[in-house]
Amino acid sequence: MFERILIANRGEIACRVMRTARSLGVEVVAVCSDADRDAAHVAMADRAVHIGGAAPAQSYLRGDAIIAAALETGCGAIHPGYGFLSENPEFVEAVEVAGLVFIGPSASAIRAMGLKDAAKALMEEAGVPVVPGYHGSNQDPEHLAGAADAIGYPVLIKAVAGGGGKGMRLVERPEGFMEALESAMGEARTAFGNAAVLIEKFIQKPRHIEVQVFGDGSRAVHLFERDCSLQRRHQKVIEEAPAPGMTPEMRAAMGQAAVRAAEAIGYKGAGTVEFIVDGSRGLRPDGFWFMEMNTRLQVEHPVTEAITGVDLVEWQLRVAAGEGLPKRQEDLAINGHAFEARLYAEDVPKGFLPATGRLSHLVFPLDCRADSGVRAGDEISPWYDPMIAKVITHGPTRAVALGRLAAALKGTEVAGTVTNLAFLGALARHEGFARGEMDTGLIGRDIDRLVVPPVAGPHEVALAVLAALGLLEAAEDEVGFVLWQPLEREVRLVHEGAEIAVRLRSLGPDAHDLQVGESTVEARRVGGRWRLDGQPAPGVAVDGRRITVFAQYGLGFDLVDPLAREGAAGGNAALIEAPMPGLVKAVYAKAGQTVAKGDRLAVLEAMKMEHSLLAARDGVVAEVLVNAGEQVTAGAALVRLEEDAA
Ligand code: ADP
Ligand code: ADP
Ligand code: MG
Repeated sequence: MFERILIANRGEIACRVMRTARSLGVEVVAVCSDADRDAAHVAMADRAVHIGGAAPAQSYLRGDAIIAAALETGCGAIHPGYGFLSENPEFVEAVEVAGLVFIGPSASAIRAMGLKDAAKALMEEAGVPVVPGYHGSNQDPEHLAGAADAIGYPVLIKAVAGGGGKGMRLVERPEGFMEALESAMGEARTAFGNAAVLIEKFIQKPRHIEVQVFGDGSRAVHLFERDCSLQRRHQKVIEEAPAPGMTPEMRAAMGQAAVRAAEAIGYKGAGTVEFIVDGSRGLRPDGFWFMEMNTRLQVEHPVTEAITGVDLVEWQLRVAAGEGLPKRQEDLAINGHAFEARLYAEDVPKGFLPATGRLSHLVFPLDCRADSGVRAGDEISPWYDPMIAKVITHGPTRAVALGRLAAALKGTEVAGTVTNLAFLGALARHEGFARGEMDTGLIGRDIDRLVVPPVAGPHEVALAVLAALGLLEAAEDEVGFVLWQPLEREVRLVHEGAEIAVRLRSLGPDAHDLQVGESTVEARRVGGRWRLDGQPAPGVAVDGRRITVFAQYGLGFDLVDPLAREGAAGGNAALIEAPMPGLVKAVYAKAGQTVAKGDRLAVLEAMKMEHSLLAARDGVVAEVLVNAGEQVTAGAALVRLEEDAA
């Protein structure tokens, strides 16, 4: 086994690889960009080497700098993770020239599968069924249009160098072909520097089922299938293993085809053979076709680990270190069922728009596997994939594993950036999905039902108010509480763009009554735990004026500004201002009067409530700027104290 390895990646996969390396007694060197100096994978590593700027081209894609770092730190091998340089044959060659081991397949195996057209031709030769279509070299638009006619519509145009769903276009009718071709080629040229495309029959009710393979350079085994049919924009959202409805015959046929594919290219290490399956006719041994092979560890590998008990990273390290395959095919078996959900910083209603921001709070439930590369306080930067974590659950049956996924998502607490958590939760509770009736179009068809805007109830609003005012933690002797105690006060929050006014009556540090719309909520602290009308309060996180209540996958509230003024008045300000527009009911202060901090100087009636305005500190009243009965605007100065002599 290696003494020390370098991980040429970042985020969750770098942390994931590190965990296994550690467990095998292998030391780990991380690399990082400017944006990642304080990242989780850096903190976790035995050593970290800074390799350049935030842009991937200046750091994680700089093979030379990464190899130099490995040599400098005495590493014996490099693990590429996924993405970045993981499928770059020139990098593999450079690693080997430097006398290091690449933990993965050979450069030639990566090349054989690197372009989808060549891979399909190779698989056809090896007797693996491929999606019917044209994958020849003639890129003349007229010729490609003719090929599409011959295949029969609908067709899919794919960039031969494609990945991540880029350069892919579905064409329903011949009229749309030329325009789609042009845009696919344009996107492919920009993204991959290669405009070439292939044309495929678009499979109806498509299911994405892939097979995990593992090779030692000549022989290979498979570790069964994963179903990744829940996709948006051709990108996986929730994956599972095994595939629902899979028959032993079809599993055997797919497994054999995948092993044939791996052995045809002398595959070494972990790889995935992706197939498309026609779901309209049920799963049948003659109903699957090769799409592509990903010559690396895949994002969704944990579901396979969960059902087989195999640590795929351990296998990667052992095989790269020269050991044979750790298990024979007949020693591998499926135990139960597993799911993985990909938690992203993204705005689902805005078309899955990637988001950025600082994660002010991040907690996962204990009874799931959460693979994450960020911690509370970390930044989701615009430079890299906005994945926050993968939430993985396992159970003896599909129903149990799915129930555990739903529960794990419900128990996940994340604040600071918009995420797809609620969307994942809705998917985990989708009835068709629960029945195993899915295809790659499910999310698109049901998107309206899957993105339901959250609606905060009175309990959640009340809790947000208490959190915003610091009353959840406040102890009896706290000054803040004493200031508020005699008062009814109004607090305003914004939730989902709407302003909510709440009347708060504090009865003591452990008891508050809150009027939220028509409802009165009794908040009581019993045995150190807050209860709302007797029910246990959910968790809550406060980050400045932003409050997140962990119900319905996270409800966001913003404390409205007038309180900031009121808060300032509670600090040390010489001016007592109206926190909101209202009617001055009474003025108690007189010019020249000596007042003590907390003295009531005036009463403002606003929003059908009376607000006492208190002296923020001891002092002498310099002037009174209003009379009882006057209507004032928010922020109007009511009373001014003399400047503090001190
Ligand atoms: P597929 O290409 O079939 O979607 P995966 O689901 O395994 O395969 O996704 C791999 C993708 O993850 C990469 O193509 C890349 O866009 C993205 N990626 C690369 N590196 C990282 C990383 N460190 N953290 C998160 N995502 C990454
Ligand atoms: P990428 O390299 O971007 O991962 P793939 O060839 O693996 O590209 O395809 C990505 C996704 O597009 C698949 O998971 C599937 O949902 C869809 N897809 C690909 N080929 C077909 C096809 N022939 N018919 C229907 N859907 C397809
Ligand atoms: Mg793919």
